[in-house]
Amino acid sequence: MRNALAALAAASLLAGPALAQDAAPRESTAFTLMTDQPRTPEQTAVRIDLVDLAIKVLPADRAIDATATLTLTATAPVARLVVELDTVFDVSAVSVDGRAVSDWSNPEGRMAVPLPRPLTAGQTTTLRIAYSGHPRVAPRAPWSGGFVWASAPGGEPWIATAVQGEGCDLFWPCIDSPLAEPGRVDLHITVPTGLSAPSNGRFLGTEDHGDGWTTWNWSAAQPNTYAIALNIGPYTELKTDYRSRFGNSFPMSFWHLNSDDPGRAAALFAEFPTQMDFYEATVGPFPFSDEKMGVVETPHLGMEHQTINAYGNQYRLDGKGYDWLLQHELAHEWFGNQMTNANADDMWLHEGLGSYMQPLYGGWLHGDRYMQTELAEQQQGLINRFPVVSGEFRSEGEVYDGAVGPGNDIYSKGSLIAHSLRMLIGDEAFFRAVTTLVYGRPDPRPGNFEPIYRSTPDFLRIVNDITGRDYGWFFRGYLYQAALPVLNETREDGTLTLSWTTGDGAAFPMPVEVSVDGRVETLAMTGGRGAIAVPAAAHIVIDPQNKVLRRLDFIETYQARRRSDRASTE
Ligand SMILES: [Zn+2]
Repeated sequence: MRNALAALAAASLLAGPALAQDAAPRESTAFTLMTDQPRTPEQTAVRIDLVDLAIKVLPADRAIDATATLTLTATAPVARLVVELDTVFDVSAVSVDGRAVSDWSNPEGRMAVPLPRPLTAGQTTTLRIAYSGHPRVAPRAPWSGGFVWASAPGGEPWIATAVQGEGCDLFWPCIDSPLAEPGRVDLHITVPTGLSAPSNGRFLGTEDHGDGWTTWNWSAAQPNTYAIALNIGPYTELKTDYRSRFGNSFPMSFWHLNSDDPGRAAALFAEFPTQMDFYEATVGPFPFSDEKMGVVETPHLGMEHQTINAYGNQYRLDGKGYDWLLQHELAHEWFGNQMTNANADDMWLHEGLGSYMQPLYGGWLHGDRYMQTELAEQQQGLINRFPVVSGEFRSEGEVYDGAVGPGNDIYSKGSLIAHSLRMLIGDEAFFRAVTTLVYGRPDPRPGNFEPIYRSTPDFLRIVNDITGRDYGWFFRGYLYQAALPVLNETREDGTLTLSWTTGDGAAFPMPVEVSVDGRVETLAMTGGRGAIAVPAAAHIVIDPQNKVLRRLDFIETYQARRRSDRASTE
């Protein structure tokens, strides 16, 4: 994938820029490349009701020409509007309620537009911004995002956007915070006629302008801010109507490259209903059933774009019996798009609970062996350098950067913590807690919920409400400490004594099962300690069903060996 991108980069130098721009290529500012930073007072004083986004995509120039019209309602008095937009674009016109504004400014990508008259709470205004230029090219999508300008095997343009790490402001004016989801986004994507432009939400038809350009129209209700995505290519659409276990029906569509093996595309599409039924049975109704389940093949690996998930796994099989990438991105329709974290510090609610859906799905399809195998695989990659949750406001970059934050632990460690919670409180309480977290109610039905924001403390409160107990010790011991809890064992004079040590030394009354010559007993571990009589010759297995996430010496030894082997071959 990197070689192909290098070739395309060389080709673009030959093509030359078609739009007016400065002599030096522009770079996105450090501010623009961050997402989920604190909002300004002007931003918390407005609600974005509607974004009408008309984007013409010019593949030959790797440029866009766009007009965004934002309808905003003040929730508190406000004298100017503040949105984010990458400074790589030339802004040709800004207007408020139809009147041109000239004294706007956009020094670092945070654009301030003075209002002719301050708004009082409840007043609505319309901000229109016309802009064009060369959007940031993704250095390594989806991990380092932007536009991906690729070519399909037949040579046609194959274009995608992926901006989770940098935010919506890489190509449209928005408030780049997970808390600033617009009420609705209407998309009008104009592309060379003959290419398809599947996108978020409901399909509202195409318009062929007769001049070689065609506009694809879509409308998405309350999309996650980084979920708005452009996908353009020579696609074939596979389509079906899905009949849900909740009694409703909705469309499922898969746009794949024309050149794909039809058998492989059909086999992946055949997984859609099975995966959907798993999520509806496990978590609750598909959150966007009045729009669609949509998946589009992309040149990059994947991304959870609401109702138009990116799929770039190339139909690879790995012996799990399902496509993990499709399954993971679909998880985000619940964990990420329906329930959005209040701040990036809570990103494990997306990625950890989302990752737990994989072993659960393995078990749901093929039995316990396949759940346990995936959980064991997940444990091999844990880092344990920084807590999964810091308890403080974090930008997304800080969370994903393993040098300063949890990095990949938000995935696998989050999943294993979820599994331990389920083993501790039981299936009924666990799944009720997850459903309540995702929908804000334990009894979701199509039409009785809307997308919501939630945090880690919200999840703890829900677990406590449902169980009638305080699991603060569990959350503190697992999520807010870098180190895994350690179960200390001593066996002497016919007694096995166990005690827990956590990162901050706080009490950790996590029950532990012990198998003594095949007979399993549970130690309550009240106060973090427990003991059991064991005959001298008895064979002991601690936690024989692997219910409890904890430090395991053999895994740490393996990880250390892997690191030193890698270092010696470099
Ligand atoms: Zn994910």
